[in-house]
Amino acid sequence: MSEETKNTEKGGISVEIEHIFPIIKKWLYSEKEIFLREIVSNACDAVTKLKRLSSLGEAKELGDENYKITVTLDKAARTLTVSDNGIGMTEDEVRRYICQIALSGALEFIQKYEGSDEDANKDGIIGHFGLGFYSSFMVSDTVDVITRSYTTDNAVKWVCTEAGEYEITTDYYRAERGTDVVMHIMESESEFLDEYRIRGILEKYCSFMPVEIYLDVVKPEEEKKEEDKKDGEEPEAPKPINDIHPLWQKSPSECTEEEYAEFYRKVFSDYREPLFHIHLNADYPLNFKGILYFPRRAHEYDSLEGQVKLYYNQVFVADNIKEVIPEFLLMLKGVLDCPELPLNVSRSYLQNSGYVAKISAHIVKKVADKLNSMFNNERENYEKLWDDLKTFVEYGCLRDHKFYDRVKDSVIYPTTDGRFVTLNEYLEKAKEKHENTVYYTADKTAQAQYIAMFAAEDIEVVVLDKLIDTQFVNVIEQEVSGVKFVRIDADVAGALKAEGKAEENAKLADLFKEVSGNKDLKVSFELLKNEKIPAVLNISEESRRMDDMMKMYRMAGQDTGSMNFPTDATLVVNGASGLIKRLADKVEADEAGAKKIAKQVYTLALLSQRQLTADELQAFLSDSFDLLENI
Ligand code: ADP
Repeated sequence: MSEETKNTEKGGISVEIEHIFPIIKKWLYSEKEIFLREIVSNACDAVTKLKRLSSLGEAKELGDENYKITVTLDKAARTLTVSDNGIGMTEDEVRRYICQIALSGALEFIQKYEGSDEDANKDGIIGHFGLGFYSSFMVSDTVDVITRSYTTDNAVKWVCTEAGEYEITTDYYRAERGTDVVMHIMESESEFLDEYRIRGILEKYCSFMPVEIYLDVVKPEEEKKEEDKKDGEEPEAPKPINDIHPLWQKSPSECTEEEYAEFYRKVFSDYREPLFHIHLNADYPLNFKGILYFPRRAHEYDSLEGQVKLYYNQVFVADNIKEVIPEFLLMLKGVLDCPELPLNVSRSYLQNSGYVAKISAHIVKKVADKLNSMFNNERENYEKLWDDLKTFVEYGCLRDHKFYDRVKDSVIYPTTDGRFVTLNEYLEKAKEKHENTVYYTADKTAQAQYIAMFAAEDIEVVVLDKLIDTQFVNVIEQEVSGVKFVRIDADVAGALKAEGKAEENAKLADLFKEVSGNKDLKVSFELLKNEKIPAVLNISEESRRMDDMMKMYRMAGQDTGSMNFPTDATLVVNGASGLIKRLADKVEADEAGAKKIAKQVYTLALLSQRQLTADELQAFLSDSFDLLENI
C-alpha cells in the first residue's frame, strides 16, 4: 500500500459495475422490498457461520455470544441499518466478497439479457450470481459496510455510492466483531423509512429466521425527553420479531396439538381451527420439512385459494409456488422449508428440476396417505369432515392422476338418507337391480319426487350437488370401466317399471307436445309401479351434462354464445296411472278439457324436475285455480 493511501483508498468496484447497477434496479423493480431479506439473511448467515466455527472449536474467546441482528431505523438520518454480531469480514474479505461482484456468472448473464425486456428470469438474478448484498442499492444512494472480523481487532469501513465508486478505510473502530450495513435511503424510496413498512417486510420474510432479529426505531429527541419524564415505569424488554425455532423444524413427536393449532393461527391469521395437519419431514436425499393444514371451508368456493409458504432455511421465499407443489395442493395452508432449493431461483429452473418433481410427488403421496389412513382407521370422523374435504379431493383427482390413483378407494359419496358409501360399496349393493349404474341427485329438495320413487324400490341415491361433481363423475366413468352415473331425473330406472308394456297413444303424445310449448319434447309411454304419478320428465344425462358444462364456462366468464344445445327432454307418461287412462278417453270426447288437464300434468312433471320460472309459476297457479273452480 503506498504512503498517501495508507488508510483510505479509492477505487471502482470493477469495470462491470456500471452494467450491474442499472440492471439491479431494472430487473428487481417490482419487488424492491426483497433487499431487506437479502441483507438480513446475510447477517443471519454471518452468525450461523460463526456458530459453526465455534462449535468446531475454531473460534475461541468469542466474547458476546448473545447472537442477534438489529435493524435500526433512523428517519431523521434517513438510514436503515442492519447490524449483526456474526463472523465479520477482514479487509481482504471485504475486497474479495464485497468489491468483486462481477463474477463470471453475472457477466455472462448481463451479456445475455442487457437490453432485453424478457421478464421470465427476472426473479432469478439476485442470489443466483451472488448479488444479494447489492440489492441494497435498489433503495439506497450510498451503502456503508462497517465490519470487524472475529479474527481481528480493527474494523473496516467501506462506503459505496450508487455509481459504484467506493472508499475503503482500514483502521476503523467497531466495539465488537460483526457487521453493520448502513443503507442511506434515497429520496424516491422514502417508504422504506416507515416503521410499519419495515416491520411488515421483516414479518413477511424474516419471521422464522434462525437468529433473533430486533427492530429498533430511533426516536426524535423530544420524544425521548417525554419518555424520560415518565419515571417509575420499567421499560419493556424488547421482543424479537421472529421465532427462531419454527414448529416445522421440530420432530413431529415433540409437537403438541395445541402447538400446531397455535402455529396455524399465528401464521395464517385464521381463527377457524384447521381440520387436521400433516407434518412433513423428508430426510436425505429430499431433505425438506414442512406442515400442511387442511383448512375448514364454509362454502364450496370459499377461499379455494389456500396459502403455502415456501422457505429456504427459515427465510421466506414466496407464497404459492405452483412449480414446487402441485396446484391443487395450494388449496391447503402450510409451510415448506426446502434448503436444497437456491433462495432465488427462476420459475423455469423449478419447472425443469428433477428435485422439485420429487418433492412434489412426495407431498402428494403424504397427503394421499393421510386421507387413506383416516378413511381406514377413523371412518366416522372422516365422514364428518367429508363436506370440507370433498372439493379438495375431487379437484385433486381431476388435476393429478397419481393422486386419483392413490385416494380413489377413500372417496365417499353421501346418500339421500344421510349415510356415506364408497363406489365399491354402492356397486356391490346395486348388482342385482341396476348393475354398474350409480343413481344420483343434484338437488335433494327439487328432486324429492324422484327420490321418493327410488326409495320405494330400495334403490340407493347419492347426492352430487356441486358444480365440480359433473367433472368428477366424468373422471370416474373414464377410470372405472362400465360404470355410469345417471341422475334420477335422466331415465326411468328399470326397477321403477311395472310388468307389461304400455300402450302408445299418438293423440295424447301430440297433446303433451303442444301444451309443453317444446316441439322437440319426446313423449314415451311406460307402466310405472307407482300408479299415482301421471308423468315424469326426464332430461337425458348427456344433454344435461353438456348444459352444466356450458354453465361452468359461463361462470368462468367464457362466451358460449353460439354453443346452445337443445335439451333432450322426454315426458314419460305413466300408462298405469288412472288419471292418464281417463285423459286418454277424454282426448277423444272433449279435446279442450283434455288440453287443460294435459297442461297441468306436464307442469307438475316439470315442477318435480326443476324450479318453475316466474312466468311458468304464474300460469300454473292460474290454471290450478281454474280447475278448482270447476270441481
Ligand atoms: P451471497 O450471500 O449470495 O454469497 P451477497 O452479495 O449477498 O452474496 O454477499 C457476498 C458475500 O459477502 C457473502 O457471501 C459474505 O461472504 C459476505 N457478506 C455479506 N454480508 C455479510 C455480513 N453481514 N457479515 C459477513 N459477511 C458478509
